[in-house]
Amino acid sequence: MSSRSITPVQSTTIVAAKDWTPTSWQSKPIKQDVDYPDQAHLNRVLEKIGRLPPMVVPGEIHRLRQQLADVALGKAFLLQGGDCAELFDYCAQGPIEAKLKVLLQMSLVLVWGARMPVVRIARMAGQYAKPRSKPTEMHEGKEILSYRGDNVNGYDPNDRNPDPERLLGAYFHSAATLNYVRSIINEGFADLHHPSNWNLHHVKSATLRQEYQGIVDRLTDALDFMKTIGADPNQTGAPLSTLNTVDIFASHEGLLLEYEQALTRLMADPADPSQRKYYNVGTHFIWIGDRTRQLDGAHVEYFRGIENPIGVKCGPSMKPEELVDLLDILDADKQPGKVTLITRYGVDQVDKYLPSHIRAVQESGHVVVWACDPMHGNTKQSVSGVKTRHLIDITRELSQAIRIHKQLGSHLGGVHFELTGDRVTECVGGSMELLDAELLERYETHCDPRLNYEQALDMAFLIAKYQEK
Ligand code: PEP
Ligand code: MN
Repeated sequence: MSSRSITPVQSTTIVAAKDWTPTSWQSKPIKQDVDYPDQAHLNRVLEKIGRLPPMVVPGEIHRLRQQLADVALGKAFLLQGGDCAELFDYCAQGPIEAKLKVLLQMSLVLVWGARMPVVRIARMAGQYAKPRSKPTEMHEGKEILSYRGDNVNGYDPNDRNPDPERLLGAYFHSAATLNYVRSIINEGFADLHHPSNWNLHHVKSATLRQEYQGIVDRLTDALDFMKTIGADPNQTGAPLSTLNTVDIFASHEGLLLEYEQALTRLMADPADPSQRKYYNVGTHFIWIGDRTRQLDGAHVEYFRGIENPIGVKCGPSMKPEELVDLLDILDADKQPGKVTLITRYGVDQVDKYLPSHIRAVQESGHVVVWACDPMHGNTKQSVSGVKTRHLIDITRELSQAIRIHKQLGSHLGGVHFELTGDRVTECVGGSMELLDAELLERYETHCDPRLNYEQALDMAFLIAKYQEK
């Protein structure tokens, strides 16, 4: 039986998942819901968002679907990264440029290591909503509502009431961020990723610095060679060719379903304009968090109906049979790369859970993108009392994931990092050998600890090294 229903409307047909509408999630149990005191106010805001124009268009979503199909089939590598919680304040020239720069530089190293095109997805232009372990927290002896992300309430303890106007703020800050990203990419910002002007002074170990420099030199030679012979990079088919046509896609966790619904639109399928389908036009890629992926829940119901490529976070509590049931719902037509499984077990648990998840998916016939998020299973309390992550744990979870995939005849298709282009001090270690005692110097995150610029590059060099083997 087909999972789709087709309704003829004049000269176009509407193609949608069976019994699905943009509002069908509303009849399902929902986790991490926000309680707005003034429902009428919320409705006014949602109606306004529903009238605002798409931020992305089906053609872009379609292109990303094709690129992720390549990743699923082992022909490209996925790099996804950005802040844990994006703030409205990050919608400014400096932070946007810094984040793009680090993503582009990482992707250049990865292209080199993998000898494959790299698909770049930023956790950006909409990564505002945060799931929380507890709805309230203690502040100066008083119980207050937890910070839920800039699109719900404020980080300031006096500003914790959910305000629907913040959803409108989310739309406009996302749109402004995307607008600037598109402009600078079009104007050749991608040239900034040329390795000749990279600075590796932060690398403390001389051996490691030599190793990094070796990769940078080889990369520079390859790029110069292509320029010298006047190769049209788009014609050569070589992996480095992808550097001239830089695509950066946007993504966020699809948590606030009212907002996602308001940005769900029926639009012509670029591959067959006689068909109209449902697209989330607020971003290119959205994912379901580890806390909201219940089979019978509202989030899974919403996600099964949209054409966008989607991600699912998989932690230790995911059962192999549950994973297959989830894929049967979210990828009913078994389209390669439709779903990206973002695994995040923690260094001590990856060996225990990843193999059974891989085997279950292999037997199911779904062809997914396997991405490793080595951040979320490795969060610890630092000596100074803040949340941190150690590069050594991150590195180990990642290398184990690569090894396990290889052993089982699968392949790690991509990575998912929390990172920033700024010089923050939130994670311990890396080539700059950041110490626990130094964490408070620039500890700026409003949620989880992120890799800083240098630590993010460390990760790219590390993966490139594995891929070169
Ligand atoms: C996150 O990506 O910030 C997050 C909350 O992750 P997870 O759903 O995997 O816990
Ligand atoms: Mn996080």
